[in-house]
Parts: sequence; structure tokens; C-alpha cells
Amino acid sequence: MATAKNTPRTHKITLIPGDGIGPEVTAATVRILENAGAATGVSFDWHRYDAGADSYAKTGEYIPKALYDSIEQNRIALKGPVTTPIGDGFSSINVTLRQKFDLYANFRPVKSLPGLKTKYPDIDLIIFRENTEDLYAGLEVMVVPGVAQSLKIITKKGSTRIAKSAFEYARKHGRKKIHAIHKANIMKLSDGLFLKCCKTVAADYPEVTYAEHIVDNTCMQLVMNPYQYDIILTTNLYGDILSDLCSAFVGGLGLVPGANLGAACAIFEAVHGSAPDIAGQDKANPTALLQSAVLMLHHIDESAAAERIQKAIEHVYAEGKTLTRDVGGTAGTKAFTEAIIAAM
Ligand code: NAD
Repeated sequence: MATAKNTPRTHKITLIPGDGIGPEVTAATVRILENAGAATGVSFDWHRYDAGADSYAKTGEYIPKALYDSIEQNRIALKGPVTTPIGDGFSSINVTLRQKFDLYANFRPVKSLPGLKTKYPDIDLIIFRENTEDLYAGLEVMVVPGVAQSLKIITKKGSTRIAKSAFEYARKHGRKKIHAIHKANIMKLSDGLFLKCCKTVAADYPEVTYAEHIVDNTCMQLVMNPYQYDIILTTNLYGDILSDLCSAFVGGLGLVPGANLGAACAIFEAVHGSAPDIAGQDKANPTALLQSAVLMLHHIDESAAAERIQKAIEHVYAEGKTLTRDVGGTAGTKAFTEAIIAAM
């Protein structure tokens, strides 16, 4: 009979495979997680749901009520990318979920993997992006034909809590410097308020150097010398753009993970989107979602499983024999997945 000691710890996790390359990278990640879990006494009870166009076709809802209920109950979700129609159609599923569960902190670590040659070796920077307001509040109106208006919402509450998340992280992990990125020279009220809140929070963390850069200059500074940045603290839109830019330092969107964190729930997902150009071709790199799952394992206190996977990722990259095409290899999603499992 199983004893408490050898009974695996089971975690209920909401799983949203998404669309485009989502189902491929999710299947790879789940397979690797189950493998690592089996070796470290962890098991997963996956609660799977579609979202977006696939869900609408099956249930008539873009986000089924059962999916909302599942995240509310499990408090943890692992999510593949979901396609958002451009210019019209339904609102972003990603933005809707972040707002619904008040996942105000988007945490995106951008770190070089060993062995992978890029123009910028040894990158280690973190983006803290406000995740619920700004131009992503979705408040748009056609004022009169030919004149459209999008409202940029910045609040003291939203700005203060994302700044606190970044500074608390810096304190806990011994990071030295935070740059608040803004455009307060033009948007004096909205970005001005964001900066004021960052500055106020910074005063409580004298051990962390605080600086401010204007976003357009930041793009140039990043490309010239990304090493001057340690933690980037910014609003929703700039954070979205800078994340893709920074992903290029470490090999592209196939690599960079993310976590959407709130007080009650967390959704872990890669920075990248559904990549329709390579969907269904066994070309997608699952590393970004896999590293998002590593963040998830740390979040649920399953560090042994997290480290097992992270070490295997680093081994496969260091060896450089079974890498996907986006990072210069020839392997498919499935072969890469098998290489990770073999390395564990
Ligand atoms: P994208 O991130 O899907 O793709 C950009 C480029 O990066 C493409 O060339 C793609 O092939 C490549 N790429 C991305 N992920 C990769 C991976 N894992 N492996 C190898 N190559 C990868 O961005 P896009 O094309 O601008 O957006 C496509 C769709 O995704 C849009 O509908 C967009 O709204 C949506 N999107 C969703 C999310 C999300 O679900 N969180 C995030 C961003 C974009």
C-alpha cells in the first residue's frame, strides 16, 4: 500500500493548449513535466480547456464559463498562445484572462542559455510589465467616422503594485538596478503618474539603484548595450514591445518564458504568440513554454522537478545537437522533446 511518503503530490492545474503552435508546445511541455514529475514525486491533474476561436466553434463562448471556474478553483494555469483577430473580431483572450483574474504582474526573465551562440552572450535581465491597464484596458471608441480613440488608463494602484513587485523581487533575489521605462515627456499625466509611483516605491528600497529611461531611447540603449539593464519596470504596451525586442538577445521568441501573477491566481505562458506561419509543422520551439512551466513549478514549491527540467534544457542547448530551427538547429518539436526527456 502507498504510504504518505511515497504518494506523489498531485497538483490540479488548468491547461489551455491554445491554437496555432499552442497544442504542439503544450503537448511537449506536458510530456516533459510528467516525466520530471514521475522522478521527483509530483503528479499533475490537468483540467484542459479550449479558448478563443476553437472554443467558440464548440461551445459558443470564447472563454467558456467552466474555464473561468477551473482557474478560480485551481489558482494555477499553464497556457499556450491564443490567436487574436487583427483589427476586428473578438477581444484578446490573453488580455481578458489577465484582467478577469487581476494578474497585474507580468514577469518575463530573459536569460541566455549555455552553448547557444547569439550576438549578445550572457544576458540576464528581467522585465516586470504592468499587465491590466494602459492602452490594453480595451477602451476604444469611434468618435465620429474617421476618428478613433483608445483610452490609456494608468492608475496609482496599478503602477504602485507593479513597482512593488519589481522592487520586492530585486530585494529577495539580490538584483541591483531597476529602470522605469516611460514616455512621460509626452504623456505627462499618465506616464507621469506611473513614474511618480515608481519613484515613491523606490524610496523604500535604498539598496536597489533606481533610474528612469524614455522608451524610445531604451530601444537604442538595449541594442547598443543591454548589459546596462538588470530589471526593466514598465507599463503594459512598452513591456509587450520590449519583451519581443529583448527575446532577440537570447535567440528569439522560442525561448523566453513568462508568468502572469496576481494575488490569488497565476497563469504561466510564453512571451510568444500562436506563430501561424509554422503551426502544425513540427517546427515550434517548446523551450519558452517549458521554461514558463519551470517558473510554475517553482511557484508551487516543486523546485526539484523545476531544476531537473532546467538542467536538462541547459544540457540539450550546451550540447547543441538537437535544437529547433529557430535557434539554428534542424530538429523538430518532437525530437527536441525527446532529447530533453533523455537528458533528464
Ligand atoms: P508570434 O509570437 O506568434 O510569432 C512571431 C515570430 O516568431 C514568427 O515568425 C514565429 O514563427 C516565431 N515564433 C514564435 N514562437 C515561436 C516558437 N515557439 N518557436 C519558433 N518560432 C517561434 O507573433 P505574431 O505572429 O505577431 O502573432 C501571432 C498571433 O499570436 C496573433 O494573433 C497574436 O495576437 C497572438 N499572440 C498571442 C499571445 C498569447 O497568447 N499570449 C502573445 C502574442 C501574440
